[in-house]
Amino acid sequence: MLRGSWQRFRIRNPAAVILARGAFGPMTPADPTWDDNGRPRSSRYGDGYFGSEDSARESAHVFVDGSDLAARLAQHSATPFVVGELGFGTGLNFLLTWDCFARRAGEGRRLHFVSIEKHPLRRNELERCLSPYSDLRTRDLLQALPPPVEGVHRRVLDGGRVLLDLYYCDAMTALEELTRDGQARFDAWYLDGFSPAKNPEMWTPELLQRIGRSSRSGASVATFSAAGAVRRGLEAAGFSVQRRPGFGRKRECLQGQRGTGQQALPAAAHPAPTETPWDLPKARCSAPERVIVLGAGLAGCHVAAALARRGCAVEVFDAESPAARASGNPQGLLFHRLSHQRSSLADFSLGAFLYSRSLYGALFECGELVHGRDGSLDGCVQTAPPRGDFDAVRSAVAALPELARSIDRETATELLGTTSAQGGLWHPQSGWLSPPRVCAALLHHPAIRLRANCGPLLIRQASDGWRIEDSEARTLATAPAAVIAAGSTSVAQAALPQLPLRVARGQTTHVPGSSRLPLRHALCHRGYVAPAGTGEHCIGATFSPGDDSRELRIEDHRSNLTELARALPDWAPALQALNPSALDGRAELRCVSPDYLPLVGPVPDSESFASVYADLARDARQIISECGSYLPGLYLSTAMGSRGLSYAALAGELIASQIADEALPLPAELVRAVAPARFLIRAIVRANAIGRD
Ligand code: SAM
Repeated sequence: MLRGSWQRFRIRNPAAVILARGAFGPMTPADPTWDDNGRPRSSRYGDGYFGSEDSARESAHVFVDGSDLAARLAQHSATPFVVGELGFGTGLNFLLTWDCFARRAGEGRRLHFVSIEKHPLRRNELERCLSPYSDLRTRDLLQALPPPVEGVHRRVLDGGRVLLDLYYCDAMTALEELTRDGQARFDAWYLDGFSPAKNPEMWTPELLQRIGRSSRSGASVATFSAAGAVRRGLEAAGFSVQRRPGFGRKRECLQGQRGTGQQALPAAAHPAPTETPWDLPKARCSAPERVIVLGAGLAGCHVAAALARRGCAVEVFDAESPAARASGNPQGLLFHRLSHQRSSLADFSLGAFLYSRSLYGALFECGELVHGRDGSLDGCVQTAPPRGDFDAVRSAVAALPELARSIDRETATELLGTTSAQGGLWHPQSGWLSPPRVCAALLHHPAIRLRANCGPLLIRQASDGWRIEDSEARTLATAPAAVIAAGSTSVAQAALPQLPLRVARGQTTHVPGSSRLPLRHALCHRGYVAPAGTGEHCIGATFSPGDDSRELRIEDHRSNLTELARALPDWAPALQALNPSALDGRAELRCVSPDYLPLVGPVPDSESFASVYADLARDARQIISECGSYLPGLYLSTAMGSRGLSYAALAGELIASQIADEALPLPAELVRAVAPARFLIRAIVRANAIGRD
């Protein structure tokens, strides 16, 4: 998922880079050994995770106190306070920082902790390492941790006050990502990547330059090391460095500050772009205090919630009531179809699933969603084949039991509580959710105001941002920023450039639950079914691209029931006894894009794109170093297809991060893969191809 970790083949179209990312699978694990005091050691690096027996006091001394966090968090007025760490390890530094933040930071402040890890510890190893620290929020952290798959994993903790970004990749790859847009965001850095003698890769001058370049003026750096080369490297990266007493047997350690008059960094710290940076905005806006969101389906509700978590006041408008259209089915599966091969689509959809799973889990934990009534994330059986080679997926997940497990037909039958026609995969974190209940839970925030049943709405550019009008051209609200999240009706918004969006009709069939239709867990076959939530099974769903009818069709009910009877043969007699013409259901239009990835991000200025990048038509491989022009403050989140439950959460978080000008929750490659502007670039390149035909 990350740039440095795959081989790239640029094809003629720079917006459609084909990535040979190799096979999907787990990362190389840490495989620690344990010393006599039960502390972890790395045989790979020949070093201990901690230098002394009192790991927590050592970490607090070197990193938390070494960064003067207690005083700085108490005074910090800008938000979030951003901490970076090389080497997540056991997560102890993070937990201590969270603890300090919770005790010291003022009301409304936020912490963003970005940590990099190449060899994650396994869950049981982490439990062992963190077991002495039950006074810290170890349970919350363990619950939120992603499986060891490469990528950027954002987690929202403490009701949104704390963001944890785990860059599961090599440190240099992560720092390339974090410095790509040239923004100095970090307030503090912890350098904790084993000793320089044992792990020189974590201390190279180039890496330290990037640390410097990513740091705001006045930012701190702290490390357990007192090595002269580290001190010199940090000084060359713009820090003034002091020695201070070390912890335990260590005589000294280092701390430093990035000077206010930042010295120029060597050329290596400002490398030339390796691709046309059309996704980086030319102009940056300051985070707005108010945002308008058009659309109260999953896409709109998630972006509203992500903005509200940042303290932004949001007005959500809808022509109808919330979740009235494609997000209105009473049940949907939160599920990820694994692929043996990595690609933009596979990486985005896995990252989105894991992010949304953690977010929904937190909504159940805090009581906003109720288990059984609003959903149940206690596992899903998949009997439909995964994308690509099933055997390869099966062997990849053998080391990822928290993600999926290969199961035979008997186990599938046992898990479902009724005969399954096939075996397949068990996804322990998947399950079903009620999308309308999810929307209601997301909108339930004091910073969000819902304005439903407004009739047809139009977003127009205003002198000071964006205004939303009703069908009689009355202005309902204005704000410096607006998000169009109106599903298949988004295309009607004149502010958007021409985008290749299509509709796909999908019909569900609703069947009353009964003892003749037993089901313990959700099932994804060629369609899907979940245990009856509030008395009904919502059986889905047909998928008819290009069909824009919302009428219920008997043949679609038949098709849903036939597929289900094939998957669950014991259900067949009861399903066959149903009269399809008497059944209830919903037929709605999903919005889909040609590459099946959603459209999420700033709305491009199409005229500027056409002129600035016109030369790509002549040579798509050339690098035009100019950044993209975007309509200031306008964003789009749509084309989730039938994946709204998992895509919309990460899409909302991405847009909220873009609006707030914060570090993004995705690597650049995936930000480009979902950017609406990709279609403008593709059109420029294609125009040339057609012209030459
Ligand atoms: N800060 C951690 C804590 O609170 O538990 C301890 C970090 S431990 C001393 C060093 C970590 O750096 C290990 O987890 C190791 O896997 C990781 N690491 C080593 N080399 C790395 C690299 N090149 N890129 C990313 N992580 C690396």
